[in-house]
Amino acid sequence: MKHYSIAIDGPAGAGKSTVARAVAKELTFIYVDTGAMYRAMGLYLSEYFSDTSNVEQIAKKVLNAEISITYENGEQQVLLFGKNVNDQIRTEKAGNLASLFSTIPAVRTKLVQLQQQLAKKESVVMDGRDIGTKVLPNADLKIYLTATTKERAKRRFTELCDKGVSITLDEIEQDIIKRDQLDMNRTESPLCQAADAIYLDCSKLDACEVTKQIIEWFQERKELVAD
Ligand code: C5P
Repeated sequence: MKHYSIAIDGPAGAGKSTVARAVAKELTFIYVDTGAMYRAMGLYLSEYFSDTSNVEQIAKKVLNAEISITYENGEQQVLLFGKNVNDQIRTEKAGNLASLFSTIPAVRTKLVQLQQQLAKKESVVMDGRDIGTKVLPNADLKIYLTATTKERAKRRFTELCDKGVSITLDEIEQDIIKRDQLDMNRTESPLCQAADAIYLDCSKLDACEVTKQIIEWFQERKELVAD
């Protein structure tokens, strides 16, 4: 049976995970949040390293890292050495650690392998930074989802305020700018639009509109593949 794959890449705060989760639910595919894996790896490595200067030692630690994925009620759970770290990885600090350590080639090699294995077994909607360019170069549909920096900061601000996190809009905007810089300018698999990805600026669209659009595009592609 053919397994389908939808790749959604884009910068931090564009709403990729909300949309990817909704698309996966509608199509009964598995949602794979690759950022969560980088966050878990960042959390683990930060116990031993405060920066990325010692690439060789970091690569050794990466080899020992045990990161795995399970699903509970359709929700992805990330296990670090068998322990569920889903709550711990959802902080701004974990996002910044992920961005820092995701520049290390050994980190990427290990996590890309895990992501590719998941996509071999199931139809997936996978979101991240390098899904269309590196992880699933033959994905059935590739989307580059973005929004203005101000809009992304506003969305993340609302999300964090709802969770009771004390942070200013300006702090979030600075964080997003810094994260974009790192993600777009690293040597290894930088964030960029795949040549065959559809560019979608969702600054003026809500999550439902974006989800509907992606499903429409996917159905069109599916028909073409079936022809
Ligand atoms: O998507 P999320 O904000 O959870 O990702 C956290 C960080 O993990 C990103 O800023 C990026 O540096 C890294 N990442 C990556 N490649 C991916 C997914 C995430 O480098 N496929």
